[in-house]
Amino acid sequence: MIKFKKFYVTTGIDYVNAPPHVGHAYEKICADIIARWHRLKGENVFFLTGTDEHGEKVEEAAKISGKEPEEFVEEITSTFKETWKILNISYDDFIRTTEKRHEEIVAKLVKKNFDNGDVYKGEYEGWFCVPCETFWTELQLKNGKCPTCGRKVQKLKEEAYFFKLSKYQEKLLNFYEKNPEFLSPSFRANEIINRVKAGLKDICITRSSKWGVPFPIDNRFTIYVWVDALVNYISALDWPEEKFKKFWPADLHLIGKEINWFHTVIWPAILFSAGIEPPKKVFCHGWLTAEKQKISKSLGNVIDPVYLAKKYSTDSLRYFLVKEIPFGEDGDFSENSLIARINGELVADLGNLVYRVLSLAEKFDGEIEGKVELEKKLDLRKIEESMEKLELHNALNGIWNFIRATNKYVNEKEPWKLKGKELGEVIYNLLEALRVIAILVSPSLPSSAEKINQQLGVKAGLLKDCKFKKFEGKIKKGEYLFRKVE
Ligand SMILES: [Zn+2]
Repeated sequence: MIKFKKFYVTTGIDYVNAPPHVGHAYEKICADIIARWHRLKGENVFFLTGTDEHGEKVEEAAKISGKEPEEFVEEITSTFKETWKILNISYDDFIRTTEKRHEEIVAKLVKKNFDNGDVYKGEYEGWFCVPCETFWTELQLKNGKCPTCGRKVQKLKEEAYFFKLSKYQEKLLNFYEKNPEFLSPSFRANEIINRVKAGLKDICITRSSKWGVPFPIDNRFTIYVWVDALVNYISALDWPEEKFKKFWPADLHLIGKEINWFHTVIWPAILFSAGIEPPKKVFCHGWLTAEKQKISKSLGNVIDPVYLAKKYSTDSLRYFLVKEIPFGEDGDFSENSLIARINGELVADLGNLVYRVLSLAEKFDGEIEGKVELEKKLDLRKIEESMEKLELHNALNGIWNFIRATNKYVNEKEPWKLKGKELGEVIYNLLEALRVIAILVSPSLPSSAEKINQQLGVKAGLLKDCKFKKFEGKIKKGEYLFRKVE
């Protein structure tokens, strides 16, 4: 039996207190591109996304809209699923934290932490911010308000259960040292390491809210929504059964930088306590602003990704977000920059190339063969390296270098002046270049890649097919891939 390399990639699961905006879409698109790339490499990929449906924040949003939490989360989750379908997000599983399969495993994991002596009863007193789901100490407050969002906090004192996070300080520091890839991108590592070095406090892992997974030790409580949410990465694999054994540890948790602490400190500690290996890598992408402003409901600049996909095409939106923002850094969404990239890079570089090559090929009735000339313009290794380093924007730059080199080849060869064997050779090189380009753009532009393949009359290839060979397609020229935006 051939054993395929596995690749397990996850996204953050989204809080369902409001429908998805372009920031949510950005993360899913990037994860999708990474998953599709690993499929191109012939790996056995498992790509997970989902929704985080418990907690006070969701309960409150449901109340405001006059609905029961069950009904409310059902509606919002379906808008998330609908959006990912429109954006061509090829997830293998979608986990909802209100599903039975998830809740059972959350309870089982917390029970294991308890059995291993890492959960104890105590008393919690602190200032609680409902929108942030976070307890603050007196010292942490800013002018008596939540230091994160600036909203009012409430004083809460209650009996609660705690997880012995403090016990794992050394183990975490050792782990970071031995696995420098774990904290990614590397410029975010020091912040976490320094905070862990400064000392870890035990964390309260229960709440008295009803909208959550019942705490298995004491049914007056539910499990803190953050612990509940993190477990999705193994509940979707049916821990500790077969699927878990096949895909765990995760190769990549892709998340927003605001939840780095939960993923790189609390999550591995909970896993250590349960005797489970931590994930291999947690990569934080940056934040997206919209026309240089923070995206938020209160600012009213929440951009609907479905609106953009319908107006400009899904592939255009996907391309723009990845090309515009160096992966890992913050970036800005602006409709003008989107239009500039569509007209400059998608229409002028890629779309025109496909159209002019197919026009030439369709009219030509000689043999499509000859010397391989264009292949050397492709630096596949560099593109692969960029993808391995998760420099998605650089990988696109590498692919575009080849697209531009192919356009240049057309201009230099002036095929409209050629005939017969000479023309057949130029067309051969161009068609093979297009076939390879379709493979390389398929993770970021899946439907355009499909259209190119249809026009060339070839099947979708894998990364190993990015070598020039005999052209075996059957030409059927189609429409322009992209339309110029005026
Ligand atoms: Zn807050």
